[in-house]
Amino acid sequence: MRETEPPQDRTAAAPTPLQSDCRSCFGLCCVVLPFAAGADFAVDKAAGTPCRNLQDDFGCGIHARLRDSGFQGCTVYDCFGAGQRVSQVTFGGVSWREEPSSARPMFDVFPIVRQLHELLRHLTEALTFEPARAVHAELRAALEETDRLAGGTPEEILALDVPAHRARIAELLLRASELVRAAVPRRREHRGADLFGARLRGADLQGANLRGALLVAADLSGADLRLADLIGADLRDANLAGADLTTALFLTQIQLNAARGDATTRLPATLTRPTHWPETSTSPAPAASRKPRGAARPQGGGRSGKPRRR
Ligand code: SF4
Repeated sequence: MRETEPPQDRTAAAPTPLQSDCRSCFGLCCVVLPFAAGADFAVDKAAGTPCRNLQDDFGCGIHARLRDSGFQGCTVYDCFGAGQRVSQVTFGGVSWREEPSSARPMFDVFPIVRQLHELLRHLTEALTFEPARAVHAELRAALEETDRLAGGTPEEILALDVPAHRARIAELLLRASELVRAAVPRRREHRGADLFGARLRGADLQGANLRGALLVAADLSGADLRLADLIGADLRDANLAGADLTTALFLTQIQLNAARGDATTRLPATLTRPTHWPETSTSPAPAASRKPRGAARPQGGGRSGKPRRR
């Protein structure tokens, strides 16, 4: 489900492509995921049911007008390359339409591989963090192990204990994050915090731990989020106008696409400014001009958004 062009990412050096290639996918996200009619989707759709806009060639019939057609939810999702891997590798390029008996296992395998690819993406980014070099060997081992798991047969993938694997990787990523953020004194701790609608305009959140924080509709305009760990943070409708995210950790295109920003939002060089963001400043105050604290900067950039089906 797709809108922005596939962004460049810190995952470029990964052993497996971690950016979606919709042309090589059998429309898995457009079948597997459920919709609930509302702000994000124009209609209800049950999980495992092809979207009414999915075409015979697995293209999207409303690709160029998703948002105008009430399908903005399709624009804030990314499979991290899981779709083409499941379609072309796990199931050998034979679609669920060609081989209907493969539909159920293919639809069950896809979300598992998608989770593993998301981990691959984060591990690849963490390997670019120079201050985290003490854990690079563990990160590399975890990357190889996760890639091996994602490359299993359908039966092997369905038998995986993904929550346990995710927990191990999360711990490792946290250690990498802490090594990077250690350079920031008096950094804030907001892990898992309920910051729904919080007024954080202009806040100094440099190096903050915002892992899994609920930041829905939060006002982060003009906030300093450099080196802030945003893994799993819910940024839907958060106001990022004028915010500085240039070195935010584990920031994804999905998060950006779901948030509200503008021309003054500062992004990592490896992520793309969502096309639906205004091309002008929307904030009454100019973007904050801050004196860098000299904090250690990770090398590289962030990740990707629900791709559009072409
Ligand atoms: S991208 Fe298009 S085909 Fe896929 S779910 Fe969204 S509207 Fe349907």
